[in-house]
Amino acid sequence: MDRIGVLTSGGDNSGLNPCIRAVVRMGLHEGVERMGIRRGYAGLIAGEIDEMDARDVGGILGRGGTILGTARAPEFETLQGRRKALRTLNRFDIDGLVVIGGNGSLTGALELHHLDFPTIGIPSTIDNDINGTDISIGVDTALNTILGAIDKIKDTASSHNRAFLIETMGRNSGYLALASGLAGGAELVLCPEIESTLDDVAETVEKAYIRGKAHAIIVVAEGWKPGTDEIARELNAREEELGFSVRVTRLGHVQRGGSPSAFDRILATRLGAEAVRQLVGGNSGHMVGWLNSDFHILPLDEAVTYQKELDKDLYNLSTIMDK
Ligand code: ATP
Repeated sequence: MDRIGVLTSGGDNSGLNPCIRAVVRMGLHEGVERMGIRRGYAGLIAGEIDEMDARDVGGILGRGGTILGTARAPEFETLQGRRKALRTLNRFDIDGLVVIGGNGSLTGALELHHLDFPTIGIPSTIDNDINGTDISIGVDTALNTILGAIDKIKDTASSHNRAFLIETMGRNSGYLALASGLAGGAELVLCPEIESTLDDVAETVEKAYIRGKAHAIIVVAEGWKPGTDEIARELNAREEELGFSVRVTRLGHVQRGGSPSAFDRILATRLGAEAVRQLVGGNSGHMVGWLNSDFHILPLDEAVTYQKELDKDLYNLSTIMDK
């Protein structure tokens, strides 16, 4: 293998730049040329590709976002789109590809592998819902951002004796809400994977009040139904009965930005470097994950076919800690 490409695809997060850096520098170490593909599969189809050298990735280790840019590229989901991408790869003499992204992006990598193009995936999504890896790139930084917000909101909630609904990202995954709720001492976590009624939530708020707490913090994943607005309406309507008034904070896109944590920098560096080793060593159609403190190389179809389940033990623990 003489020349490899690297792209970031799907949702952005704060581990992508350290990962790009690792791919480029390990590529240099392995003696292959490195091509950076901009805007994910969209840039791959359009041929937005430049050579990357050691200096091109200097100073990005501590920067959030992705210097390559990222995009959603519906065209790549069609065979015609993927054929266009193959033409580009041939035109640029690229003979192996590292794809850094979430479930959809890794499915795209698998499709390229099925077209006989050597491809290795790296899990990167703040949802932490990819099978075969304990954690994906970007999760730790997002988690620490949310935790910082919970700590701050607790200060103001306690000063005014209020309940707060703090909404995190996670349309289908409650991981961020659960992990940040556990780390931040939330009274309740609402995840799409676990059914909770409006009455359950009201009961939690009332219990917190009766126990003499100065606040009630409820972390809500955005995908939880019936939704943050609905629960805010319900709790506000029952303020007299529950004891606390309720405020809502939606953390939104701040969860995607910021300087990557030490953990994310190290994880991204390890996975990026190992992905290059795998590709140059002749592997294709696999993901480089991180399981039980070691690399876990598994077929991409095992990684993308099922969404990783929410850790029920962690959820149960959070319900014990809310006293
Ligand atoms: P995140 O989990 O952060 O949202 P993601 O990688 O899952 O990231 P998606 O929007 O699902 O984000 O996918 C990103 C891109 O991957 C899509 O725009 C498309 O180009 C490609 N992709 C997604 N699904 C497929 C598929 N089934 N076949 C081929 N390519 C796909």
